[in-house]
Amino acid sequence: MLKVALPSPLRRLFDYLPAPRAPACGWQPGLRVRVPFGRRDVVGVVVSLASGSELPRSQLRAIGEALDEGPLPSDWQWLCQFAARYYQHSLGDTMQHAMPARLRQGHPMAGRTQTLWLPLPNDETALARAPKQAELYALLRQHPHGLPGRAVSAHGFTRDQLLALQKKGFTQPQEITLTAAQPTGGSLLASPSLPLNREQATALSVLHEKLDGYHPCLLEGVTGSGKTEIYLQLIEALAAKGKQSLVLVPEIGLTPQTLARFKSRFRVPVVALHSGLTDPERLDVWEAAANGRALVIIGTRSAIFTPLANPGAIIVDEEHDGSYKQHDGLRYHARDLAVARAHYHGIPLLLGSATPSFESLQKALTGAYRHLRLTQRPSRHPPAKLELIDLRHQRRQGGLLPGAIKAIKSTLAAGKQALIFINRRGFAPSLACHSCGWMAECGQCDARMTLHRQPPLLACHHCDSRRALPDACPECGSGDLRALGSGTERTEETLQGLFPDTTVHRIDRDSTRKKESFEQVLKEIQRGEPCLLVGTQMLAKGHHLPHVTLVVVVNADGGLYAADFRALEHSAQLLEQVAGRAGRAAHPGRVLVQTLHPDDPHLGQLAEHGYGALARNLLEERRIAKLPPFCFMALLRVESPQEQAALALAQHAAQALRQWLKDANVPVRCLGPVPAPMERRQNRYHIHVMITADKRSHRHAAANWLVQWLEANREARKVRWSIDIDPQTL
Ligand code: ADP
Ligand code: ZN
Ligand code: ZN
Repeated sequence: MLKVALPSPLRRLFDYLPAPRAPACGWQPGLRVRVPFGRRDVVGVVVSLASGSELPRSQLRAIGEALDEGPLPSDWQWLCQFAARYYQHSLGDTMQHAMPARLRQGHPMAGRTQTLWLPLPNDETALARAPKQAELYALLRQHPHGLPGRAVSAHGFTRDQLLALQKKGFTQPQEITLTAAQPTGGSLLASPSLPLNREQATALSVLHEKLDGYHPCLLEGVTGSGKTEIYLQLIEALAAKGKQSLVLVPEIGLTPQTLARFKSRFRVPVVALHSGLTDPERLDVWEAAANGRALVIIGTRSAIFTPLANPGAIIVDEEHDGSYKQHDGLRYHARDLAVARAHYHGIPLLLGSATPSFESLQKALTGAYRHLRLTQRPSRHPPAKLELIDLRHQRRQGGLLPGAIKAIKSTLAAGKQALIFINRRGFAPSLACHSCGWMAECGQCDARMTLHRQPPLLACHHCDSRRALPDACPECGSGDLRALGSGTERTEETLQGLFPDTTVHRIDRDSTRKKESFEQVLKEIQRGEPCLLVGTQMLAKGHHLPHVTLVVVVNADGGLYAADFRALEHSAQLLEQVAGRAGRAAHPGRVLVQTLHPDDPHLGQLAEHGYGALARNLLEERRIAKLPPFCFMALLRVESPQEQAALALAQHAAQALRQWLKDANVPVRCLGPVPAPMERRQNRYHIHVMITADKRSHRHAAANWLVQWLEANREARKVRWSIDIDPQTL
């Protein structure tokens, strides 16, 4: 009897009888199998062997077939088990998510190989009576390194002709794998590593203290301080021992430039898991990692599930980045899984950031992680201090104060570039009637619609619904409709008007729908002509913009007084990252931050002393308020088109949980139900119940109990619910 994990949201395994024909390796955990499920065939993974089932034998069905000759990699199996347990998610669903699409669809695991047909020396005259075969032999001889089977048929020859030639000893097939060529021997490096400065050298030597054991380190280094160089030299040290490094980068960070930087350093195989890969290519990368051929694997969030034959280290760049958290289905955090995985393998873990998450910073401050710091840039220009400028009672043009415009002007006059950061795409965040005060609102969300000019329309940025621009106010008929506030389009328009002879590049999701266009603009910017960049956070993170000497933040107030307790942390991270774009190369930079709250103490501290100081201060506030990382949190999210249905389930769940906590005497706090900060989204109502505990194990017990209660509850089948462990946003 075999227990199999199937693609199902149910948190249980399914019992099957073995197929009549056992695979060569025998039945064992980790085998990918095809099984009948209802009226379909699905792909599942054997999790365990059991002696019996709760079901009578007559009701058990047999496995259709084993899909591979051996089990899936054991480190992958372990990680799936861990993630499913930690995130209270179905194991079958977790495994489906964690394997490449081709495996999910039941294709064979073997990496794509290609058969090359090699010519063998032989006596041609033996083919005199088979002119087609003689022709084919002549063709093969033109390709002494072999010709792929596909090329042979493209030349109009058949497989039978090939096989006949093989039989007569004129050719022989050779299998080669497509991805990641073998290391070419000799030096590991294709280009020399940089001589490290003192701080970098210290950090690297700490890493070298323990290369073959669990060794979690936080590399807190200001923007542009040379963190990537440390990653490269750590990878080099491990590659020299034949060990693999897995490098996670944020979604926005996996650019061709980043990849090029890794690829140009090493002669060993570097493979990347990026969104441009086809499914078969993705499987190739997976396979190259699983059998140890790829020594450096770079990818975004989901790359954490890549199996490693000889794990050497896991590196998480910009570890604070929000894109590491998945926001639906299996709501995992790739950085947290990286920690668990490094511990499991017993290998170094390197978390790098200029603006570490409070979770990681806290661990570094208490000594649970080694704390490595880089405070200086190789370019010697320290990151610029933020200059706060008061938005109140001042006229703005396209969102910009006269002081900011003046600074932009002198930057251009000096032949440099300026970056104007504005966290809102579109022309203006809202459209209002000047006569009666009507505002354009989304019919499906508790949100205003954004005015766009290119093309002209109203769009909701939460549900993506669109509407034509009204000619007159739908409430009072007045024609006096006005755009309120500024988005990237408006600022672009204003700047173009003010500086007609200067190129203004707008960079946001609307302007860069085509991937190449973003790359092209970046290239042009890097050429260094004076120009202006107007962009959202797409532009704010990661990119090396050597000619930018001025950064203007149009409005810094987004996170200052938000409901979410993490808003301030996230907004400080973003500000510091944006500011880090200025003066990275030979020229010092300036950062102007426009705000309605120039006296806000947090903003003041960020401006005066930087992210590190503010973060340490805010950590104290979190400690006092008993908020993460000083407690462990889980969030039950309930949603339904009927507000009442969502609310009722949330209420019953919270009640039942409180009762259980009391009876079982588990020290866990349960808060709610409360409406989500934006309760109605896409015509669905969102209700939250929050669980917090001082101990991870207590939080786990409560979340586990709640999930089981919900699964057994009939009412819960009528609404959508999910549990979010360590939620990052409310
Ligand atoms: P970070 O990853 O911290 O943002 P990078 O690794 O991108 O910083 O380094 C910023 C710039 O400094 C890059 O152009 C890099 O080549 C350069 N750099 C890094 N380390 C050194 C060094 N030891 N000597 C000279 N230049 C360096
Ligand atoms: Zn009106
Ligand atoms: Zn909407």
